[in-house]
Amino acid sequence: MSENCIFCKIAAGKVPSKMVYQDDLVAAFQDANPLTPVHILVVPKKHYENILDDIPSEVLEAMVHAVSVIVKQTGIDKTGFRLITNTGDDAGQTVHHFHIHIMGGRKLDPSAGEKRD
Ligand code: AMP
Ligand code: ZN
Repeated sequence: MSENCIFCKIAAGKVPSKMVYQDDLVAAFQDANPLTPVHILVVPKKHYENILDDIPSEVLEAMVHAVSVIVKQTGIDKTGFRLITNTGDDAGQTVHHFHIHIMGGRKLDPSAGEKRD
């Protein structure tokens, strides 16, 4: 548990969240400021800074498994969805605990909000 990390606290049940999935390694909860009708964050229960951290393969596997369970639970496996993991400053990562955004529930901007330079 990294001190003052909001996602560590949520994963440990010390801060309330709308939890949608949990197992030994992973927690998933609704984003507090959803950008799409389905907007869920999948996080490892242990603290890792971002995807460049030394994350055990079993944790990565558990996160991918959680994604597949959640998209089926929410039905967006049928309509489509997007996974995003913001990493570092240019991507605007604001919470420095590795997380995957699952976004869907409507037609998404095909350019992921980016404009060509
Ligand atoms: P990122 O910019 O990729 O670091 O995304 C961080 C995400 O965490 C944002 O979409 C926030 O809305 C979300 N977020 C921040 N605090 C909370 C919280 N306490 N519960 C749920 N989601 C949160
Ligand atoms: Zn953390």
